[in-house]
Amino acid sequence: MKQTDDLEQHLARLEGCRRCGHAEPIRPILSRARRPRVMLVGQAPGKVEISSQKPFAGRAGKTLFRWLAEAGLSEEEARDRIYIAAMTRCFPGPHPSGRGDRVPSRQELEQCGSWLDDELMLIRPKLIIPVGKLAIGRFLGEAPLADVVGREHEVAHRGGSSVVVPLPHPSGASSWIHASGHRELVSRALRLIGERMRALAAVAAVVLALALGARSAAAQVPADHWIGTDKVKHFFMSALVQSLAYSVTQVTTQGSRSSLLLSASVASAAVGIGKEMYDRRSYGHFSVRDLAWDAAGAGTASLMLSRTRN
Ligand code: SF4
Repeated sequence: MKQTDDLEQHLARLEGCRRCGHAEPIRPILSRARRPRVMLVGQAPGKVEISSQKPFAGRAGKTLFRWLAEAGLSEEEARDRIYIAAMTRCFPGPHPSGRGDRVPSRQELEQCGSWLDDELMLIRPKLIIPVGKLAIGRFLGEAPLADVVGREHEVAHRGGSSVVVPLPHPSGASSWIHASGHRELVSRALRLIGERMRALAAVAAVVLALALGARSAAAQVPADHWIGTDKVKHFFMSALVQSLAYSVTQVTTQGSRSSLLLSASVASAAVGIGKEMYDRRSYGHFSVRDLAWDAAGAGTASLMLSRTRN
């Protein structure tokens, strides 16, 4: 599938990125989702992610996946269905104060931003979940968390437009979550995420059912022999179409019998070819043998009509 291939190529390029010159073993942390319709954008990986090579593998991740469980998603499901990106993909290092991680610099954010832009264009997500102030600011601009968490926002970006449902950063370093009423805002945001995820799963199930239905219909196309009941049907249907077309042209136009027969032949040929084109589009099956039997039916009807009296 094209999106999956393009995403694989993108991830291969991202994996080799060393623009910020971080020392080994610091390298980009990649999402494992390959056919996502939803993106989650965090701030930057932490130290724990260096060894696990999984986004949100540390303490903040535990809280995040506990929250997502409220939206009806297990951690495994979330990692498979949600493309987990970040404002920068490499661990920026510890904060100079020794408390927590360093916030990525403006230069790092600018250098890494093109990866996120490319992903928005590749994935065209229906839903984006920015996590933490830095990621929320990227999509919604500067705004107090209490004004944006717990709501849906329609946001235009490089890949089109998406519904954005922000979450605060789940790290213990943020005290926002403990203020009065803020946990209720997070619960509301998780309900919205759950509803969107279920709707997307339902749409994906319908698309899959339609695709499987079309494939099984194609598999049921009978073998195309020269002789068979389907060919008898083609013969008689075509003779009937020819006779009807002749009657209609006789009523609606003036002309010799041969010109009426010619008009009827054109009409029945158009019906026969049209049916084969439809079969080819629907089932990948175009039969010259069906057309030959159509011609035989139409020809026989023409012969009989040319011998009858007006
Ligand atoms: S932070 Fe982003 S731009 Fe910098 S090296 Fe890592 S992947 Fe590349």
